Amino acid sequence: MRIGQGFDAHRFSDGRKLVLGGIEIEYPLGLLGHSDADVLVHAIIDALLGAAGLGDIGMRFPDTEPAYKGISSLILLGNVVTELTDLGFSILNVDATILAQKPKIGPYREKMLKTLSMVMGLDPSRINLKATTTEKMGFVGREEGIAATAVVLLEEPTAG
Ligand code: MG
Repeated sequence: MRIGQGFDAHRFSDGRKLVLGGIEIEYPLGLLGHSDADVLVHAIIDALLGAAGLGDIGMRFPDTEPAYKGISSLILLGNVVTELTDLGFSILNVDATILAQKPKIGPYREKMLKTLSMVMGLDPSRINLKATTTEKMGFVGREEGIAATAVVLLEEPTAG
């Protein structure tokens, strides 16, 4: 088995949709980024790539590449999952945490879970989503942006 971890953070910005865990969230601010800036999905992608020993999201999907401008991060996630599956890896579980002072994530949790489970071809019981504030400390606490961490466990391809 192989473990991987991912971390990401994006800054709030006017005039952007807030997309987290593949779904749109009602909030006056969105996150700034080359893609849809889905910080949770980015952390999960980095955890997957890390577990497989395949580098990181910036190497895979450079933010200088026009093709990725405004792209749904779910597409990137789907690509990575397909690649791992083709290599013979299977995903055992994903555990992720969103760090946000605002907005409240709870009401969106189920829908995020459903979306991620669909895109990853994974039973929802294998995905755990958590959310926390940082008790008003740091950039998250000052509501400057949102961060996310993720851990995944992969089963390696069987030899032969
Ligand atoms: Mg990112």
